[in-house]
Amino acid sequence: IDEEAAARAAAVNADSGAPTIFDKIISKEIPSSIVYEDESVLAFRDISPQAPVHVLVIPKLRDGLTELGKAEKRHGEILGQLLYAARIVAEREGIIDGFRVVINSGASACQSVYHLHLHVLGGRQMKWPPG
Ligand code: AMP
Repeated sequence: IDEEAAARAAAVNADSGAPTIFDKIISKEIPSSIVYEDESVLAFRDISPQAPVHVLVIPKLRDGLTELGKAEKRHGEILGQLLYAARIVAEREGIIDGFRVVINSGASACQSVYHLHLHVLGGRQMKWPPG
């Protein structure tokens, strides 16, 4: 089933930029610490946490969503699912009373992986403005 998912993801992602490390996380070729998963969304712990809780929420099918700046109207449903998954993650991680969701889009926002992802951060007092 994982191989099927990987093949499907590769086919859909083929025309929308190079594969990223997240494809291997989705196919479970690379291990990750999964916090939440459903048919369209995967949430796993960031390998370099910037807060006591730092989880990434990604669409299983990138479908052109290399970055938020490339989003189209047709992506509305998955964008909503990602945000709702962020809320589920916050609840599971015990930070529902205060957490931050960040999306870095593009080089000047320091995006490093070109597969849309939400950062869910919490477990400490967050500062504003962000860097
Ligand atoms: P961004 O800089 O917004 O593109 O975020 C990419 C995030 O992916 C960074 O916070 C990285 O620490 C994280 N990351 C990169 N590789 C992995 C991995 N193998 N497992 C978990 N998180 C990763």
